[in-house]
Amino acid sequence: MAIEIPRELLPVDGRFGCGPSKIRPEQVTALAAVGTSLLGTSHRQAPVKNLVRSVREGLADLFRLPDDYEIILGNGGSTAFWDAAAFGLIENRAQNLVSGEFGGKFAKAAAAPWLQAPDVRSAEPGSRAEAEIVDGVDVYAWPHNETSTGVASPISRVAADGALTVIDATSAAGGIDFDVTETDVYYFAAQKNLGSDGGLWFAAVSPAAIERIERIAASGRYIPEFLSLKNAVDNSRLEQTLNTPALTTLHLLDSQLQWINGNGGLAWAAARTSGSSQELYRWAEASAVATPFVTAAADRSPVVATIDFDESVDAAAVAKTLRANGIVDTEPYRRLGRNQLRIATFVSIEPDDVRQLIRSIDYVLEHQGA
Ligand SMILES: *Cc1c(COP(=O)(O)O)cnc(C)c1O
Repeated sequence: MAIEIPRELLPVDGRFGCGPSKIRPEQVTALAAVGTSLLGTSHRQAPVKNLVRSVREGLADLFRLPDDYEIILGNGGSTAFWDAAAFGLIENRAQNLVSGEFGGKFAKAAAAPWLQAPDVRSAEPGSRAEAEIVDGVDVYAWPHNETSTGVASPISRVAADGALTVIDATSAAGGIDFDVTETDVYYFAAQKNLGSDGGLWFAAVSPAAIERIERIAASGRYIPEFLSLKNAVDNSRLEQTLNTPALTTLHLLDSQLQWINGNGGLAWAAARTSGSSQELYRWAEASAVATPFVTAAADRSPVVATIDFDESVDAAAVAKTLRANGIVDTEPYRRLGRNQLRIATFVSIEPDDVRQLIRSIDYVLEHQGA
């Protein structure tokens, strides 16, 4: 018979997925309130342009953006940004740090035929690679948080003359504190820690990155219009996108930014996510059957906790039981192939709900096979 977790052990909200991830009910209520005014109106008119402005200002506040950095955006999510970067940001060659799925996907995009083959630095999943200055590399790229493995990497500029430090922050943005001046491009989509929906990419860009984008755009290289970063810069300055953006994504993001910034910004968000993830790591370290997948404690992600189980536990069966009880998306990244649970501790997820999740997992472990 299926295990039924007692109600008093269940989290209030059962969404622990790493993307798309929990959207707070208050955001959905706020979205419904503009259901007949904003939704279904032209993205070339004031209401939508004001929303784009508000999102860009909210992100600038969140990242404590220096005056000479800007927020740009475009359609297609982070995956589209990788191709846009291959066309319009990498001049000759990228160095890509890879220790999981997402770092690897940018490395593939950077292997475009008009560029030199990227310098790929691989590390075993669960660990991380280090950047190393190499002659001829003009973009150094790695994920702030490798969502597929739960490894977080420090953000510090690679001090190579004229090179750009380009960070995939898709699951980190708004959940891990960092110094934006240590990056040239900090790009992300909004359906993870930022508790919105998919479809758009955003990037905080430095003056050096803008200069690079403009120089490559003027170089005569063929760049499809949809993937043109120059186009994105020009449109973003006008609070627009080249083609129609998802208005719901923008609205949900805007309310999330107001919520985070109103509560104390990135420092508050980072304290909250790291408190939640530490509960999970401490629980796993104390457990007889579980252990944090990432062995180096300093590399353990504050926003995506990956917990391995020994062979006495079938983690897939645990995830299935949790799902039957309304606790969803705790399965590991599909291609990692481990006996594991992967749990988002994004800022939207209540720390109390993480504690209840732990109680629920304990209950399932006690009753599994009984
Ligand atoms: C989810 C994710 C992506 C892909 O984002 P899309 O918007 O779906 O393209 C890229 N990088 C990281 C680190 C991610 O977690």
